[in-house]
Amino acid sequence: MARNPLQFLEIPRRDPGKETPKERVLHFGEIYGHYDGANAAAQASRCLDCGNPYCEWKCPVYNYIPNWLKLVEDGKLFEAAELSHQTNSLPEICGRICPQDRLCEGACTINDMGAVSIGSVEKYITDEAIKQGWRPDLSNVVDTGKRVGIVGAGPAGLAAADVLARSGVRSVVFDSYPEIGGLLTYGIPPFKLEKQVIDQRRKILEGMGVEFVLNTRVGEDKPFTELVDEFDAVFLGMGTYTYVRGEFPGEDMPGVHEALPYLISNVYHVLRDENAPLPWISLEGQNVVVLGGGDTGMDCVRTAIRQGATSVTCVYRRDEENMPGSRREVQNSKEEGVEFLFNRQPLQIIGTDRVNGVKLVETRLGDTDSDGRRRPESVPGTEQILSADAVIIAFGFRPSPPDWFDDFSIDTLPSGKVRVTSLGTQPFQTTNPKVFAGGDMVRGSDLVVRAVFEGREAASGIVSYLGV
Ligand code: FAD
Ligand code: SF4
Repeated sequence: MARNPLQFLEIPRRDPGKETPKERVLHFGEIYGHYDGANAAAQASRCLDCGNPYCEWKCPVYNYIPNWLKLVEDGKLFEAAELSHQTNSLPEICGRICPQDRLCEGACTINDMGAVSIGSVEKYITDEAIKQGWRPDLSNVVDTGKRVGIVGAGPAGLAAADVLARSGVRSVVFDSYPEIGGLLTYGIPPFKLEKQVIDQRRKILEGMGVEFVLNTRVGEDKPFTELVDEFDAVFLGMGTYTYVRGEFPGEDMPGVHEALPYLISNVYHVLRDENAPLPWISLEGQNVVVLGGGDTGMDCVRTAIRQGATSVTCVYRRDEENMPGSRREVQNSKEEGVEFLFNRQPLQIIGTDRVNGVKLVETRLGDTDSDGRRRPESVPGTEQILSADAVIIAFGFRPSPPDWFDDFSIDTLPSGKVRVTSLGTQPFQTTNPKVFAGGDMVRGSDLVVRAVFEGREAASGIVSYLGV
């Protein structure tokens, strides 16, 4: 039977227009998408079960969305958690930080009147089920005796470990950081993703038999050859960590910061972790300019606001329509007081001993480039100087394949991304048949949910390769 889409009117909604900017900042994590059983069920019941699950097709892991919404509506929480984990290894995390407006919720049939809050319900299912004692049921899993070494405890590596455990294959996950999560822990700010969620996931995975060896850099602290010898197969989920530079004068001036060290230093500071490898960068009382309009840029502007910056301006070289980041994040940033300067290209960082401004030029969109996006072109005679006490460069990341790949016949593409599958027979197999790879190091900087998908697919490839 079709359900009533107007039931959402019964759900308490926040009214950002009536809050001060400070209240909006403070309340964001508390209010956004925090459901109890009653309003999760009410939200789930808005799904029309339309028979054309566009939401599922737009979800990169092809979640069974209408099915678990129905289970929530019927109060079958543990069944919903089981079903949700059949396709997604980190549902509570994707529910929090997927750009749903571009994915599942953007495709919802009733989007015009407010899409079903799919992400918030997904997060609720796992959070609440774990709170009530649910754990993955591995009672039917038979140990195959096979073991896989995983390099990288980011979303790709964690997803691979999850699928392998459910297939009776033990895995040992190595990471250079002291905690698991990759960019989930050391990148994405705590106001967007509470770090205890990752700790909770670590306990779940350890309960499934996954072993973590942290503070260990493969290739330095542990030679890769030992992994190849010790394990039946290896999965690489090492991410992308070479910063894209602007290549304009003044980039190395004091007061100019790379996005990731800025964000990581703030994560350590917020967590009051005394072992921070970087000094804390505080932008309190400063006029901050962030160059770049992706998710990383949005995290930087929102972090600077929380640090008490006097003003925060985001400069992006295309128009708002063409911004790569989540629409929701742009809206949140605007609500919190961030100014946006669209169609502006930085030419130079201005200053003598330290930065005091950024020279910009206006742009207009020209021909389409090889990525299918219209290229920004400078408009002569439109240069201007924007004053700034601090500048953050958030132009994204490029792959950083280590030298030792050559010793193990692991090929990369000219872009530095790892080459997978074309010469192999299994999904995400590299040019070394015993080694698989997935996530940002294969596809380039992207989304958590796509790294999860590739980690899962690669694990299925490994299971097939091992013949178990
Ligand atoms: P990573 O998360 O980068 O994990 C790789 C891991 O490998 C790291 O822990 C690293 O220490 C480890 N490693 C690397 N080399 C070695 C080695 N030799 N030995 C041992 N360990 C090693 N995506 C979203 O969906 N939503 C968002 O809101 C979002 N916000 C983002 C904000 C920022 C600031 C950034 C930078 C990214 C954001 N992303 C977001 C993208 C998302 O975080 C990545 O796509 C995702 O984390 C990629 O997962 P991964 O497992 O491939 O790599
Ligand atoms: Fe939506 Fe992401 Fe969840 Fe898929 S994983 S249903 S895209 S929030």
